[in-house]
Amino acid sequence: MTLLQVAQRLKHFDEEERTYTKEEALKEANRCEQCKDAPCENGCPLQVPIKTFIKAVQDEQFDRALQLIKKQNPFPKICGRACEVHRDCVKACKLKHPVQIGKLERFVAEHGKNLSPEKIKKNKKKIAIVGAGPSGLSCASFLSQKGYNITVFEALPCKGGRLALRTPLYKLPRGIIDEEFKSVQANFRHSVAIGKTLHIKELQKGYDAILLASGAGAPVIPSIEGVEKGNIFTAHDLLMRINHMNAHQVTEHQIPIGEKIVVWGGSETAVETARTLRRLGGEVTLIFEHDHHQMTANPETLRKAKEEGLHFLLLTQIQKIKGGKDIESLECVPLMSQMTPSGEAVLTPMEDSEFTLLCDQLYLATGQHSTPLMDPETRLRQTRTGKILVDEHLRTSEEGVFAGGEVSTGTSTLAGAMADGKKAAEKIDLWMHKKLQNSDDEKTF
Ligand code: SF4
Repeated sequence: MTLLQVAQRLKHFDEEERTYTKEEALKEANRCEQCKDAPCENGCPLQVPIKTFIKAVQDEQFDRALQLIKKQNPFPKICGRACEVHRDCVKACKLKHPVQIGKLERFVAEHGKNLSPEKIKKNKKKIAIVGAGPSGLSCASFLSQKGYNITVFEALPCKGGRLALRTPLYKLPRGIIDEEFKSVQANFRHSVAIGKTLHIKELQKGYDAILLASGAGAPVIPSIEGVEKGNIFTAHDLLMRINHMNAHQVTEHQIPIGEKIVVWGGSETAVETARTLRRLGGEVTLIFEHDHHQMTANPETLRKAKEEGLHFLLLTQIQKIKGGKDIESLECVPLMSQMTPSGEAVLTPMEDSEFTLLCDQLYLATGQHSTPLMDPETRLRQTRTGKILVDEHLRTSEEGVFAGGEVSTGTSTLAGAMADGKKAAEKIDLWMHKKLQNSDDEKTF
């Protein structure tokens, strides 16, 4: 067992799962059948050569396995822990009990040796990257290897982006993020909010190209009666306070824990918020409108949450938040779900079955929008919800300005966001060599 027992897990925020031992890694790698068509690789947005790196593990060539991974994925320690693997490679594995690719990647990242860095011939070109999250830093990593001078602008005082906002410490310790992101050859300018401290126009004057990768850090607040009451928080509030202010340890930042806590949502963030609150000693109920098939949370995370005593109230709609100044209860109604022939779930409230659920703290994990660009001078084309419009080459409506990751896609997996950063690096490099300007593909907006 690489996972801590429930009683231990609930006591602290230390990492809940340890890395495979060599024996465990070899046993797991040897389950891989080295399928000819390797469908697992089609499931990886970063195009990690999964079959080949697992073969290297089978042969106990851990350094080679690491080099194979790092060519495509500069942050394997992070991905091996926090990538939502069920959606991608593991789900695509042919075996009934899929090979635990993420756990093997984590093993390799810790047991393989990095090659000494090659001497890179620097060019004179300067690239600005807005956002120090997975897509921004993946782009920075690939572009710096091509000799560009990179400056990363970040509004927060730390690196991490979505990892800081949505991934709890027991899954991804802060030290791992710092260690892997330290390898990125770039200048970092923290606490700079593009659009407030510095305008995109100013960046355009000082840099040859710009990537906007500011992520999706704006929580969606549902329009529901009573949502303005006290003791209603967002999942981001909680996870940021713990990840960056050590609110689980530092008395002056301590989080008051209610007696009847509800988390609203069915995503990985929702379930991790509930698990975090369980570690803080709360009794927690998770409410979601659909059934568990529609939950986007990782099945492994759901299994851990059940073991840890999280209550689930599925197929339930919150209709109203009641109370005085602070929240006191939720008016709910059970829903019936019927599938249409096209596979869409249609929800209908059950008649005369409304009920009241006592609740003195509500955490909203009801999604997130792209982080808004607070730049009144920008003419970048965006959707109504603030997503930046890009064409297939990740070009925005402004010459030399690209956008990648959740700021243009809305939401994605960790590997998806990193893959977008990598694609942005390729496109920016082509653009710098004047190969993209001559592309026959017209911008699609
Ligand atoms: S699909 Fe599964 S068994 Fe086949 S090569 Fe990939 S990891 Fe190995």
